Amino acid sequence: MIYGKIHRNFLRSIAGRGVLSLHEATNLLNTLSEGEVPSVQDIVKDINHEIRPFQQAIKITNDELTDEEVVVFLSLGYDDATKSQNVFSATELEYFRILIEHIMTTEARQITGINAMNLVGGMKASFTKTDAQKLLNTWCRMRYLDKDQNNYALGVRAIHEFEGYLRQNMPDTIEECCLCKQIVFRGFNCPSCALAVHTRCLNKYLEKVVKWPCCKTDFHVSQLERLHSAENSRLCQSQRLENSHENEQSTEVNETQECTEDIQTKQEIIPEISQRVTRKRKMQCE
Ligand SMILES: [Zn+2]
Ligand SMILES: [Zn+2]
Repeated sequence: MIYGKIHRNFLRSIAGRGVLSLHEATNLLNTLSEGEVPSVQDIVKDINHEIRPFQQAIKITNDELTDEEVVVFLSLGYDDATKSQNVFSATELEYFRILIEHIMTTEARQITGINAMNLVGGMKASFTKTDAQKLLNTWCRMRYLDKDQNNYALGVRAIHEFEGYLRQNMPDTIEECCLCKQIVFRGFNCPSCALAVHTRCLNKYLEKVVKWPCCKTDFHVSQLERLHSAENSRLCQSQRLENSHENEQSTEVNETQECTEDIQTKQEIIPEISQRVTRKRKMQCE
């Protein structure tokens, strides 16, 4: 299909909204097309060909929080240098970078609203808690962050937009899914080999084989619960499979946990970023 009005309008909508469900994207294409309706996949492929030189991309992926297929607009310029994109000011980006570090270095991969506000104190530029609150709201709306009760976690857009950044700068904080090789934020560790797997990837796999996909150990739903209380569980935000694996649609339940905080102060240099960042590393544990 020749790149034209449908592509441009589709791109404009998705860039404006940041994230659309696959269902919404399909409806959007229906509205935009006069004749035969192209598939979202085909349109996305054409658009990506055009926008890649501008370090932008559209990705069809799965939102770990809602377990929904989504179409996400990504500004990949962030990855090369967080300083060189123009949507947010340098100060706002500094705050976002500090926020990401704190989120990624907690066990549950999320921080409380109060913690997020207190990070303002560690910034060089003048930046108030009111500024921070406004930005947190904006980033939630843009799906860079997800707010669950009073906790902030990385949203689907940040997870994919900052994937390269996280792999490069914080490799010790990420775990890859043994099935799809993408970063896992919400999932499980195998009780035998400790490899990580997305909840959705595991569910799909279990429909065919009732074993852990990583090392083929027999799978029991009870292991998922044990994992949650396991001493070395790196993902204490584990979700439980409510339904048995015979049921195709498994329901996920977010478990909130009482975490105590043990604060260690560490000074580290993040490669690729020109300035040194003093970080207070907070470890939340069960
Ligand atoms: Zn996966
Ligand atoms: Zn395993």
